[in-house]
Amino acid sequence: SLQDKLAGAFKTLKGKGRITDVNIASTVKEIRRALMDADVNYKVAKEVTDRVKQEALDRDVKIAVEPGQLFTKIVQEELTQLMGGKAQPVNLQGSPAIVLIAGLQGSGKTTFSGKFASYLKKQGKQVMLVAGDIYRPAAITQLQVLGEQIGVDVYAEPENKNAVDITQNALKEAKSKGKNIIIVDTAGRLAVDEVMMKEVENIKKAINPTEVLFVVDSMTGQDAVNTAKTFNERLDFDGVVLTKLDGDARGGAALSVKAVVDKPIKFMSTGEKMEDLDIFHPDRMANRILGMGDVISLVERAQQAYDEDEAKKLNKKMRENKFDLNDFLSQLQQIKKMGNVKDLMGMIPGMGKAIKDIDIDNDSFKPIEAVIQSMTPGERENPDIINGPRRKRIANGSGTSIQQVNNLLKQFEQMRKMMKRMNKMQGSGKLGKLFG
Ligand code: GDP
Ligand code: MG
Repeated sequence: SLQDKLAGAFKTLKGKGRITDVNIASTVKEIRRALMDADVNYKVAKEVTDRVKQEALDRDVKIAVEPGQLFTKIVQEELTQLMGGKAQPVNLQGSPAIVLIAGLQGSGKTTFSGKFASYLKKQGKQVMLVAGDIYRPAAITQLQVLGEQIGVDVYAEPENKNAVDITQNALKEAKSKGKNIIIVDTAGRLAVDEVMMKEVENIKKAINPTEVLFVVDSMTGQDAVNTAKTFNERLDFDGVVLTKLDGDARGGAALSVKAVVDKPIKFMSTGEKMEDLDIFHPDRMANRILGMGDVISLVERAQQAYDEDEAKKLNKKMRENKFDLNDFLSQLQQIKKMGNVKDLMGMIPGMGKAIKDIDIDNDSFKPIEAVIQSMTPGERENPDIINGPRRKRIANGSGTSIQQVNNLLKQFEQMRKMMKRMNKMQGSGKLGKLFG
């Protein structure tokens, strides 16, 4: 994966006591190759690595106290810039605000429409979904089922074969019902085709949306970028929604699309469930690509799922490097409530790689929970005291093996190290602010 390859590239630097122009150059070259393997456009890969090299020279990586760390930071910053720097808001002015959703068939438009509606509803907005995909009867049903599930009205006219007409009627209805936002789901084809383009163009003209979002499947790599280009030429959309970024982050599309079409990625979608939608944060994505996990997103999701006080305590502990096995245990228990376990685990620094090839379901936590529950409060707070005899006692008590106890302690230690590094790297600046 991109993560593994980048990690490999950094190794060249990290192991070295001394950094030279030669190994900076070869590391940069490896990074470029890793990016291209991940389907990043050649020009983009070259530009970004040229900047990394220049920055490394400008900032005297060679004489830095921790050169590997500074170099990683430079790469992180450049990737963040490449993806647009900051999270970009959606324009929801107007009564109602009109959001038009476009993209190829199967890219995840209908799913995203539901997720976005649910997200806005939670913010107290009156939302209406509009079934603008008139070609497949199943498409209308799909949206209606989602609407029912999340408790949002769906406007549909199954007998009407004119999508422009339907969306105009929907807008009238929304106005009369005092809706704040309508989300217009549209039809897509398997490949870009003129009829589809014309139709969505006509819808755009007819309803004059406040925001046009282009939805694209991140797994399609280089194609995703080309499709984005074509849609942008016709629709001049306002933002991109990157879907199917589940589990292991595939960086290619995320990294290229902003650079190629110069439109920001606004959302990312990481699963089929209605909760699996996140605002796209370039810096967090860069961290994920670099295998540093995504603690902030994890904490945010955790905040949604459990009470704020507990989340605040957890944030503080992470920031002060005081995260202990009690916290780990309560986090696991919360994660189980949040669904998509593997994804969430992947956000914990250092965990992504460890769990990449493992099948994870909620039962996989049982031995881990058992091990921690067999520890004394003192051991949970300070795992360093868990010596050989204690390990044996814990293994016996939890019905696991010494090996399993060792593994857990090792993983936990790695996690703590990663958190420490993240805290150090991001300093009191970004993390400090977000963790409030
Ligand atoms: P549309 O044709 O563009 O409306 O695409 P759909 O919303 O119907 O999605 C196509 C398929 O992709 C469905 O099976 C969805 O459940 C699935 N899907 C959508 N978004 C995601 C995602 O973020 N992750 C995963 N794994 N599947 C997704
Ligand atoms: Mg659809």
